[in-house]
Parts: sequence; C-alpha cells; structure tokens
Amino acid sequence: MDKTILVVDSDPSVREQVAAVLSERGYRVLQAGTVAEASLIEAREPLHLLLVDDELPDGDGVEWIARLRAAGNHLRVIFTSPPLLDSQRVARLYRQLHVSMVLDKPVAPTHLGELIEGLIGKARPKGQRHPALDNTLSMLRKEYLLRLPGRLSDLSRAVAAARERPGDPAALLLAEGQAHRIRGTAGTFGLLELGEASRRMETALREARIGTEGLYGEIDRSLAAIRRLATEGGFPYPGSPGPSAEPAEPSPDHAGASVPSAADDPHPGEPAAARLPVNIEMARVLLLDEDEELQATAAKAARQRLIEVVPARTPAEALAACRERPPDAALLSLDLSEGGAERTFQLSRQIRALPLCESLPLAFLSQGPAHQVSASHRGASLYLVKPLSAETFLLAVDQLVAANRDARPSVLLVDDDEEFASLVAGILRCEGMTVALLRDPARVLATLGEVHPDLLLLDVNMPGISGFDLCRVLRATLEWQALPIVFLTGETDLSSRLVAFQAGGDDYLVKPILKEELLARIKVRIERARLLRERAERDALTGLLLRRSFLEGFSVRLQAARRKERALSLCILDLDRFKDVNDTHGHLAGDRVLAALGNLLSRRLRQEDLRGRWGGEEFVLALPDTGADAAAALLSRVLDEFRKVVFAPDRGEPFRTSFSGGVACFPEDGQDVDALLRAADRRLYRAKAGGRCQVQVHGPTPESVG
Ligand code: GH3
Ligand code: MG
Ligand code: MG
Repeated sequence: MDKTILVVDSDPSVREQVAAVLSERGYRVLQAGTVAEASLIEAREPLHLLLVDDELPDGDGVEWIARLRAAGNHLRVIFTSPPLLDSQRVARLYRQLHVSMVLDKPVAPTHLGELIEGLIGKARPKGQRHPALDNTLSMLRKEYLLRLPGRLSDLSRAVAAARERPGDPAALLLAEGQAHRIRGTAGTFGLLELGEASRRMETALREARIGTEGLYGEIDRSLAAIRRLATEGGFPYPGSPGPSAEPAEPSPDHAGASVPSAADDPHPGEPAAARLPVNIEMARVLLLDEDEELQATAAKAARQRLIEVVPARTPAEALAACRERPPDAALLSLDLSEGGAERTFQLSRQIRALPLCESLPLAFLSQGPAHQVSASHRGASLYLVKPLSAETFLLAVDQLVAANRDARPSVLLVDDDEEFASLVAGILRCEGMTVALLRDPARVLATLGEVHPDLLLLDVNMPGISGFDLCRVLRATLEWQALPIVFLTGETDLSSRLVAFQAGGDDYLVKPILKEELLARIKVRIERARLLRERAERDALTGLLLRRSFLEGFSVRLQAARRKERALSLCILDLDRFKDVNDTHGHLAGDRVLAALGNLLSRRLRQEDLRGRWGGEEFVLALPDTGADAAAALLSRVLDEFRKVVFAPDRGEPFRTSFSGGVACFPEDGQDVDALLRAADRRLYRAKAGGRCQVQVHGPTPESVG
C-alpha cells in the first residue's frame, strides 16, 4: 500500500509545492485547506502522516491535533509554523500532543522529504531507481562542475601560500583542507581520477605538516596531475602563482587519463550528500623506545593509516610530549637504558597525573614476558613482546585508541563552512577532545548514532535546514533529549538568541568565536552532563557502576568478545565476614572498607575494564581479552594489596580485612551473562568454603554440576 500523507495548509501554493516534492519521492499526498476538510479526509482515509500548519481559516492547527489525540488518534504529526512560535506552545506540541517535529517555515522541500523519510520510511523499497532523484543529482553535478575551477584555484593558492611560509602548520592545514574538499566531492560526482590526485595531494600535505616528509616533490606532482586532469576535462583552470604552478613530470599512472564529463555517467548512484565523509581526526600515539628500527617501522605503518606516531627516546621527552598535547594512547618500552622497567613504570604514573591523561590507555613493550603481570597491575591495556611487526603495532594501536575514545570528551561539530569547522576542531583537539566534523546537516541523526558525542556544536545557518530546526528534531527524539547542544551563530539580535533557547539549545556562541570562551562554555556543558550521567549510573559510596549500568556495559563487551572470538572474564568479589566488620568496628568503618575497595579497583585494572558494585558488599568486574588464569592472577594481586590496608575503626582496634573472588570466563564457562554469573558465583562460594581470602577460577560450574 502507498504511504499516504495529508498536507493541511491554508495556502494552496505551499500545499502544491510540498505535494510535488513528496509525490516525487513516491508518497501519496492528499491536501486540505481547512480544519473541516482535514477532518473529513482523516476520518475516511488510512493515513501515515499529517503535516499541519499553525493557522487555518476555520481554526487552529494545535487545537485540531489536540482533538485528534483526545479521540485516541496516534498518527505521526509534523507541525509547521512561522518562526518564533512561543515556547509554551512548542512545549505543549511536543509533550502533550506528541508531535514528532515542529518546523519553522519556510521549510526547504528537499529537507522536508528527508525528514519524512526518516520518520515514516521511504515510500519505495530500497534500490528502485528514481527519475526525479537522478535529475536532481545531475543538476547538483552541473553546479559542482561550475564551482570546480574556483575550488582548484583556491587549492593552488593555498599551496603557494604554504610554500611561502615554510614550517607554518596552519598554512599547510589550510591547503590540506582545500585538497580534502576536492577529494571528497570530485569522486562523489564521478571525477574519480581528480579525486584520487587530490587524495595524494592531501596525504603529501599532511606528511609535510606533521614533518614526516617535508618534501614538496609529491605535492608538485599531484598538483600537476590535477591541473592536467582539469585541462583535459575541459575545465577552465586559472593558473596559480608561485613555483607550485610549474608543471612537474606527470606520474606514469596518470598518463593519458581523462576526466569523464557529466553526461558520461547517467547513474551516479546514491545522493551526493549521503556519501560525503564524516571527518574523524587522526589518532596520535606516543611511542617511547630507543630502538630506531622500531620507531621507523611504527612511523611507516602508521602513515598508511590515520595515525600519527609521536616518537620519544627518553622518559623526559615522553613526558614533555604528553604535556604539550595529550596523545590518544602511549606505548612505552620497559627496556630503556635509563632506569629500566621501574623508571618506565614511574613514567606511566607521571603521565597519568597530567591533566587529560588520567585514563590514557597504556601499552608496555619489552623483550620478554618478565614484567607482564606487574604491567597489567599498573593499568596497562596491552603488553607487547618484541620484535614488533607493523601489523601487531597497528592492531595494538587500534585497540588502545578504541579504549580511549570513550574516556575523552567528544564533540560533534555540524557546520557547512569547512574552514571555520577545522579551526574550531583544532582548538578543541588541542584540549584533548575528540572532534567529529559533519558538513551535511541531513546526516546528523545517523552520525550521532555512530559517534555518540558528549556535546553537539551546531551551526545555525546551513543549507537546507536551520540549526534551530535540527535542534527541535533532536529534542523530540528520546535518545537525544539530554544531549548538550550549543549553537554557533552569526546573529547577535535578541530574537535569534531567544529562538536558540526555545528550540531547546543549552547555549550559543557568536561568530567570530573567541577561543577561551568556546573552551570555557563547552567544557562546563560537558562536565555538567557527565556529572548527571555519572550520578545516574554510579554508586556514590564506591564510585563504581550500579548493577544495571554494569550489565549494559557487560553485554556490549560480551558481543564484542563473541564477534572477535576473544576471551572475556567475569569476576565476583565478596568481602569476607563483613557482618563482623560492621558489628565489631561500626557501620561507618564498614562503609570506609567498601569505599576503599571501590577506589582500589578504580585505580588498578585497565581503562576498558568494567567495575561495578553488585549490591551490599559484593563487587563485579569484567575484563575483556583476558583469560581465566590472567584474570585470577590480577585479582590475586589486588587481593594482596587490599589485605595490607589498615582501616581506622569507629570502635576497637585498627583492622585489616579481605575478600573472596570467583572467576568465570567466556567462552568456556558459559555463552551468556546469566551462565557466566552463575559460574562465577559458584566459584565464589567455593572460595568462601575453602577458607576465604582467595580467588577460585577452576572447578565445576553450575552447568557441569547439574
Ligand atoms: P561472608 O564472608 O560469608 O561473605 O560473610 P559476610 O558477613 O560478609 O556475609 P553476609 O552476607 O552475612 O553479610 C554481609 C553484610 O554486609 C551484611 C550487611 O550489613 C553488610 N552491608 C551490606 N551493605 C553495606 C553497606 O553499604 N555498608 C555497610 N557498612 N555494610 C553493608
Ligand atoms: Mg555477600
Ligand atoms: Mg561477604
């Protein structure tokens, strides 16, 4: 059956325009100019969506929706109104009348189409070709080809400027941005070779910027290739000043290449916007090792990926690098001539004491496995044994960086102005934040789902949809109601500021942006949101996750373990004779014991391990990529440390205490959370029966016992 949309608007030209756009997308569109007409159609026709305007000749759109809701009608509704609808009305529409979106008029028709597809799904099954869409695409492509010469001359100007200011990373970054822009779109519009030449240009510029190459040979070659491709493709390509305009030898792989013209490609595929990349930054990894060969292997391997290796040869160099800008992860050698393993362990504590490095993922490198257990006790996520191949290095970096991604504040920046966006991103990244850039506002929902940022920075004026409308959409989506949203706007007048808050924004910043103000406002928002989340997720006494949050995190890790066919250990800890502690030394002393164990567990183990308070005096741990024996060894070390702690009593003598633990490991002890919990609990029971103050890891599980 066709998906049917009823458009209710007093203005016939608005109705016609909306109807045309939606019919093109394959929806069946009915129209009504009054509440009376709309009511008749609504009673008679099976509808999928209502598009209702605020003011109608015989009544008020809001009141009509209220009547429908009162009659038990749950149909999806998009409400349109002139800008500056008062905030109480907006609140009523969302909260009481459960309207899906409130949009300011005028709404860009293509954008409306996209929103509706997001709400009720496409009218046609996937894959079916769409003549109107093809037309739109070829129009977009024609427009792009008109803009291309300008883009190309921007690029060559930026390259010339970078050459005039050698060693200035900002100039290189600007040129890189230009190359990136051409690369992203040229390929999308079918100019594959031009896209490829721009990609090489971008890579060469990046290498020059991060100092790994610093040579202009490849930059010149790719610029020459771009010029040649452009000329052969028939684009008037303005000459560029400076030595970079000198055509170099064209690279052999491009000899005789030509740019396909717009008419050559009648099936350009998906909408252009859908394929524009989300720009995720390069990961930076600190590598402390004296071995030059290892440094070279690592740098080379990393260059092929979006990874920047920051090399250090001494602990002092490593510390300075972390101080300057926190890396995403650190790989530290334990075999330094200066101080050996102990010096490196000391360094790891110094690094972790730096701001924004508190939970930096660490890996230790060594010739042999001698320090393995003490390394993981010190919070190392990985222990790597030399010699290290390029593949192992990359795998390790991927794993470390993935662990850190959750810990660093992350921001999604939606802005169609690329230069402005990279500037803002640069500022935030220097403060240790992770920044994802998105130029296409239509992809915000999808990208939020991928990136899960702590904060959304939203440009107000963007093609197709305003930041205010986007914000309203997000506030109407359960998942993003609590997401901090800060607007970036060029407008300073009162009404825009009011709209920013009415739309559900938390704050706004006026362009041009002041660096200090940007950072202060963003940080405070992120911290507040994290605090609120932590409060909901964490136990106040121990600082560990509450049972529900632990289970959520555990099931994510279990899925990953299953997918990657890796081990995952689950441990349950229970304080020994804790009732006696309370009875003998007082309930407050008991609380201090609980807090101390929570604190110890937070500081030991790795960033990616989960720690929870299961209830009462029981704790749970989840250790990814850790087999049963390794988990038991770790836990025994924590137990040794815990047993030595002397607690102050409320009554009686200072005292020590201990815990017992049971460990179960995926996959051998069970396939799901319940089975693993039962197995760990069973072993905990055995540890208690066996005299307490011990960790049990082997032996019968509930399944094998029956
Ligand atoms: P076992 O070694 O067999 O585990 O003995 P136990 O005394 O630790 O075990 P039992 O389950 O009998 O007692 C647990 C005690 O933990 C009882 C309860 O009062 C105490 N407890 C639970 N939650 C808290 C808390 O938040 N603070 C304090 N101080 N005590 C708590
Ligand atoms: Mg208990
Ligand atoms: Mg107990």
